[in-house]
Amino acid sequence: MNPPCIFCDNESGSEEHLWPDWMHRFMKEHGINLVALRVQEGSEPETIENDLEKTINTVCHTCNNTWMSRIEDKNAPRLKIMLQNIPLTIDPGGMKILTEWAVKTAMVQDSIKPRIGNANFYTREERVAMRERLQIPARTRAWIGALNEFHLGSRGTDFTILANGEKTRIGTGCANTIYTGYFVVQVVTEHIYPEYQALGIPEIQPPASISDLRLIQIYPNAPKKVEWPTDPFTNGGPNGIGHLLHRWCQGEKVSMVTKDSVVE
Ligand SMILES: [Zn+2]
Repeated sequence: MNPPCIFCDNESGSEEHLWPDWMHRFMKEHGINLVALRVQEGSEPETIENDLEKTINTVCHTCNNTWMSRIEDKNAPRLKIMLQNIPLTIDPGGMKILTEWAVKTAMVQDSIKPRIGNANFYTREERVAMRERLQIPARTRAWIGALNEFHLGSRGTDFTILANGEKTRIGTGCANTIYTGYFVVQVVTEHIYPEYQALGIPEIQPPASISDLRLIQIYPNAPKKVEWPTDPFTNGGPNGIGHLLHRWCQGEKVSMVTKDSVVE
């Protein structure tokens, strides 16, 4: 027996491609060769190989071929434009379905990332609500941006949320960054521990970085329109995508700190 699907009670299926068939066809038709992504911080070089063939085994065949495939179909026309780096005006309806696509992909990425123990960040309730009514989890934000080269991948990081002079753990967060072609989206969800939920803790802000000038928040509080591409991240260098991947978790530091006054 495989473990249950992360979105429903079915047994999870055989290996499925993470990236949809249309994306495989698109890349073949356009003769796209993938080059490694440089995400170094400091002096140590680090590269990530793009992996078009990446597979998942945490989702059942039914989910993959019904509601998940409908999300792909709704987004494919817009993503195909962005995969070619053709400028595009995105309206609030487009931002909504891009957010659904990004959160669905983030939940899948969360289910396959290496971890200590066997826990996913997203809860079963959050994943089932995504399947049943495309509900975006509470305290979730999404930003979009651009890359100056074609890359393909997704990376997830969990982080701890601290308060009270970094002495008190008040929750955890999960950041997932997905880059498909020249398009980049980052999804962040926070889980505040129950005993702190009544305090109205504001959303956690990452340290200021070059990412701030290159990202546009599309959920919640979507702007009236987004002119894409925005000022792009590059493959390495001072404006490298490494800054975006490390935006919420920098080196050894795995903590985000709220204003000290929030938790007494
Ligand atoms: Zn399922």
